[in-house]
Amino acid sequence: MSIKNNLNLVRNDISKFAEEFGRNPEDVKLIAVTKLHSPEEINEAIENGVTDIGENKVQEIQEKYDKVKGVNWHLIGHLQRNKVKYIIDKVYMIHSVDSLKLAKEIDKRASQHNLTMKILIQVNAEGEESKFGIPPEDLDQMITDIYENCPNIEICGLMGIAPFYDDLEDASGFFAKIKALFDRYVDDVRDRVNFKELSMGMSGDFKVAIREGSTYVRIGTAIFGARDYR
Ligand SMILES: *Cc1c(COP(=O)(O)O)cnc(C)c1O
Repeated sequence: MSIKNNLNLVRNDISKFAEEFGRNPEDVKLIAVTKLHSPEEINEAIENGVTDIGENKVQEIQEKYDKVKGVNWHLIGHLQRNKVKYIIDKVYMIHSVDSLKLAKEIDKRASQHNLTMKILIQVNAEGEESKFGIPPEDLDQMITDIYENCPNIEICGLMGIAPFYDDLEDASGFFAKIKALFDRYVDDVRDRVNFKELSMGMSGDFKVAIREGSTYVRIGTAIFGARDYR
C-alpha cells in the first residue's frame, strides 16, 4: 500500500468515526507521526495533504528539518530540558510537558526567540503504567504554576498515551478520564490557559479516542507502515 492510499483510508476512518460519534470531522485533526521515516516519505505525505507531523525525538527533528518544508512540527515524545533550545524555533506545539522545570526552560527559550510556545500537558491517567506524564491530581497546580511563571507559554490542552490494552474499551476508559480533566479548563478565564486541543489516539486506538473527544490523533503505522527500529 502507498502512503497516499493509507492516508485516504485513515482520513476516511477519522471522518467515519467522528460522524458515528456525533462529532464534526473537522474537529479531529491528523498528525502524521513520522519518527524513523525519511524526509522523502514525509514529503510524499505532505504532497498528499498532510499539514501536521509528529516526531518524538529532538535529534530527528534537527536532522530532517531542512529537508521537509511547509508543515507544522509537533514534538510528541519526552523532552529533555537541555534539548529545548534546539527545537524551540522549529516546532509548532510541544505535546509532552510534564514538569514545571521543563515548562520554565521552554518559557526561557521562547522568550529569547520572542515567541509564545503552544504546549499540551501530558497526563498519565493510569498511574504506574507509563513512565511520563503527570498524575491527574497534580494538574491544577501544574496549570497554575505554568500560568504564573511562564509568560511565553500558551497552555492549549492535554495529551495522553494510552497503555497497550487487549480490549479497546479499556483504552476508551483511559481517554475518558483525560477528557473529564480537559473539560474543567475549557472555559478557563486566564488568557494563556486556552484549552481547545486534546491529543489522544494512535493507529491502534484512535477510534475510541475520537469517541472520547480527541482533537488531534497521532498516527504513524497506519500511514507509513511498520517502523524499522534496527
Ligand atoms: C509513535 C507514536 C505515535 C504513533 O504510533 P502508531 O501506533 O505508529 O500510530 C503516537 N504518539 C506518540 C507519542 C508516539 O511516540
